Amino acid sequence: MKTKGSWGKVNPFYQSKEWRALREEKLEQNPICELCETIGLVTPANVVDHIIPIEVNEELKLEPLNLQSLCEHQGSNNCHRQKTVTTRPFRSFVRFVKEMEDGKLRFICSPEARKKLLRFLKE
Ligand SMILES: [Zn+2]
Repeated sequence: MKTKGSWGKVNPFYQSKEWRALREEKLEQNPICELCETIGLVTPANVVDHIIPIEVNEELKLEPLNLQSLCEHQGSNNCHRQKTVTTRPFRSFVRFVKEMEDGKLRFICSPEARKKLLRFLKE
């Protein structure tokens, strides 16, 4: 299997039954890229992304509020890639949440998804 960039091995979680089911359900519920939608574009989503990456907080890997549908199309829209590049420097969970609240990570998910996720994290 091809591994992704400098992140090394693909997490075996992505092969798990739970993840596959959750991913499929999410794409069924929301087949349109959520980031494209915020700028008025309608793009079919083909990736389910963890808003807070597994590498930052593994406990949120099956949390529906931490998931979003994104596009990852060769040569055209690729919100998933952009989002991954934006979030890559943020490795600490505390920092990630802080940046989501008021900093550089405002545009990694829809405002609505951000609000719901942050509210959930404070409960
Ligand atoms: Zn998109």
